[in-house]
Amino acid sequence: MSTSVTPAVRLVRGDITDQSVDVIVNAANSSLLGGGGVDGAIHRRGGPDILAACRELRASQYGKGLATGRAVATTAGRLAARWVIHTVGPVFSGAQDRSALLASCYRESLHLAAELGARSVAFPAISTGIYGWPMDDGARIAVRTVLAETVAPVEEVRFVLFDAHAYVEFEEVLAMRG
Ligand code: ADP
Repeated sequence: MSTSVTPAVRLVRGDITDQSVDVIVNAANSSLLGGGGVDGAIHRRGGPDILAACRELRASQYGKGLATGRAVATTAGRLAARWVIHTVGPVFSGAQDRSALLASCYRESLHLAAELGARSVAFPAISTGIYGWPMDDGARIAVRTVLAETVAPVEEVRFVLFDAHAYVEFEEVLAMRG
């Protein structure tokens, strides 16, 4: 049984590939075969073992790709982490509310991290880059879900924000505890 914990939530301005944590979460796409943004940075810095593990997962379990909102773990290669968890964020739509899928990315990643025995997890602001999610809403969903869904042994969740705008939006939401 998993026990809910109140995580220490930290905000860091910077590059997620510089973080020393148990889990680095990747804002992947459903192909699991790499892309731009965070995905590109993680594969570049982490080296070819991550892509090799992703290809194996594609071949063995996710022939049609990983569904939006789901998460899978691989080696972290040369990154200063034990695992990379790849999760597929939804593309933002003005016509359709896809918030539950974005929340699912954070929730599934946290539960998988807990299953692996991770104590610290670093997240990027999923879907807020190429996938177009507005930063204020993306931050609200991220912080709320993490505060509600963090389970032992995860005790620290770090949001690693690439630019000042993202940092300020997360800071505001965190000050209101979601
Ligand atoms: P998505 O396709 O889910 O939108 P992106 O990688 O395009 O994913 O962007 C997600 C967020 O991560 C954006 O806010 C982007 O500015 C940020 N980002 C891009 N590169 C990095 C990085 N190396 N470390 C942390 N955040 C990053």
